[in-house]
Amino acid sequence: MCGSEPEGAITPPSGGMSWQTPATSTSPTAAPEPAPVPPPMSMWSALEKGEPSFVDALDVENSSISSASLAAGCPSYPPSEVRNWMVCPAFWRYSQIWEPRVDRWTPHALVGTAIHAGIAAYLRNPDTEGTGPASPLHVAIQTLGEGYVEQETWSLLSLSKLVEKGYCALRDAIQERWGVDLHQIYIEYADPHQDPRISRGRKYRVVDFVRCHQGCEPETFEVWDWKTKINLDDQYLGEALRSGMHSWQLLDYSWHVQQWTGTTVTQAGHGLVVLGPGKPKVHWPTVRITPERLTQWHAQARRIWSMMWHDEHMGLARMNFEACSDRHMHFGRECLFLPACHQLNGNQNLFSSLYKMRRNT
Ligand code: SF4
Repeated sequence: MCGSEPEGAITPPSGGMSWQTPATSTSPTAAPEPAPVPPPMSMWSALEKGEPSFVDALDVENSSISSASLAAGCPSYPPSEVRNWMVCPAFWRYSQIWEPRVDRWTPHALVGTAIHAGIAAYLRNPDTEGTGPASPLHVAIQTLGEGYVEQETWSLLSLSKLVEKGYCALRDAIQERWGVDLHQIYIEYADPHQDPRISRGRKYRVVDFVRCHQGCEPETFEVWDWKTKINLDDQYLGEALRSGMHSWQLLDYSWHVQQWTGTTVTQAGHGLVVLGPGKPKVHWPTVRITPERLTQWHAQARRIWSMMWHDEHMGLARMNFEACSDRHMHFGRECLFLPACHQLNGNQNLFSSLYKMRRNT
């Protein structure tokens, strides 16, 4: 059991990169949406053909896509991409294609992914505990090991202890909040209409947990998303909790779960795990979902998805110079593309001196 085990009881596997998100446990029955129509020309096709110039590939004059067709058939971009686009459309586009040749690896995303994996295993089978290969804690530590990158700052053992603490804190908080009867409906519910135009080689819009809202007739659903912060000072906690009240991600997930299942969503929230300073704590910022709120959100989403589709295929991604050195917007550091925009002036033909192309482009 967590907490009673000696630290380091589970040996983490050796490091290595993993792109795969854990498998979805359930199959939705909602009818699929109409298949989207791919664009007649894209930057991707230009890249695949090995065409020499990004400028040519992005030239508006050379594209046959009309604004009307973009608005009619644009994909529903997942919240993570919308967030990046809102920070800076150029950042969103560059991030899909390029990564710095030299970058400092940080474990923040991986620790969250590992805790997610352990909690998903627990929710699928709350009776499985211990440290065996099927135990949720083992799943969490294994996920950590698969994504770990060797470096001098973060040891795999110290991160394993962090993941164990986070997993145990969230599992205990779930038990305390919902008891033994979790009323789970879906666990890691991936968008059943994975649009190949935006899948980028991995599953997107994966909803962590959908449960039945108890005491409602007819039945309604709650949508939950797990978040992890390795460190969050008390002075910033209020801001983090308030952001849940207007979370694009929660509204997006609620709207889509309704579409996929035909069941009304009435509540959504984050299970926010704060690992430090001090003992791990779990917070539950929750938002009430109403039809009016989702209608408002969807009207905004359609406009934004349309602009993103336009940016992706017309080569006009705007640069937001206000975001370049804003560490709030770039997870605690400056934008990775500062040299690209401000030394190379956004000329992608020169980017390969500082950046390499991502594997999934
Ligand atoms: S450096 Fe600034 S303009 Fe360039 S991608 Fe980053 S945020 Fe956008």
